[in-house]
Amino acid sequence: MSQRRLRQFASHQRQLRRARRQYAACLDSPPGDLPGIQRVPSNPEKLSHNKTFGPLPLFYEDLFFVCADCNSEEIWAAADQKWWYEEFKADINSIATRCPTCRAAINARPMQQPAEEPEQEQPLLATSA
Ligand SMILES: [Zn+2]
Repeated sequence: MSQRRLRQFASHQRQLRRARRQYAACLDSPPGDLPGIQRVPSNPEKLSHNKTFGPLPLFYEDLFFVCADCNSEEIWAAADQKWWYEEFKADINSIATRCPTCRAAINARPMQQPAEEPEQEQPLLATSA
């Protein structure tokens, strides 16, 4: 490696270290560097059902959320996100809001019966005698 390339390399390494320090300073623990946090790469072809002008994710990352019903603290696993968006073909802007227990409780509820009101007979067309 030439002296010039060595200097460029060293300069690049310093820039990287500075960027990492700045990143760590603005976030106490950068995502992806937290132990136990999983990342899964996305498959852009399987996301083509999304008609969005925004960027599609390059990867999924374990996501922390609070259940909307019971307020329990939950992790939406990266692999589950991949299935939700790429296999179930959900909208890329939809996110998990309920823990598995609350979701199961909703799914176990019997289908709501339609309102008790008798259906009004709708006159179809005025019939001529
Ligand atoms: Zn819940």
